[in-house]
Amino acid sequence: MEKQFICIICPRSCPITVDTETMVIKGNKCMRGRQYVNSELTEPRRTLTSTIRIESEKVMLLPVKTDRPIKKEDLFAAMKKISKISVKAPIKIGEIIVSDFIEDGTNLISTKTILK
Ligand code: SF4
Repeated sequence: MEKQFICIICPRSCPITVDTETMVIKGNKCMRGRQYVNSELTEPRRTLTSTIRIESEKVMLLPVKTDRPIKKEDLFAAMKKISKISVKAPIKIGEIIVSDFIEDGTNLISTKTILK
């Protein structure tokens, strides 16, 4: 059986085809595409981006993301957790909001500085 993928690693967006019986991979223009497809077939991961509530004079939401990709199957649980988090300003860009978020060693970090 053949499976089709669009590589999301770089802007070239190579269409990649995998024969799941022989594991022959075609269409990738570099090794990163091969690694991406292998990861998609075994344990797909995504970087989660979202917003959390913030107590601030100027804004109500703080953009956040995980500092590395988490398992795709954990995204729903992660969003549920995020909906219960709130912080107080000031917060700096890159500041850890929750350490060991969903997985050990993965942090939820701020992607914006909110001074007050
Ligand atoms: S296969 Fe390589 S060149 Fe093609 S989109 Fe993926 S990373 Fe980019």
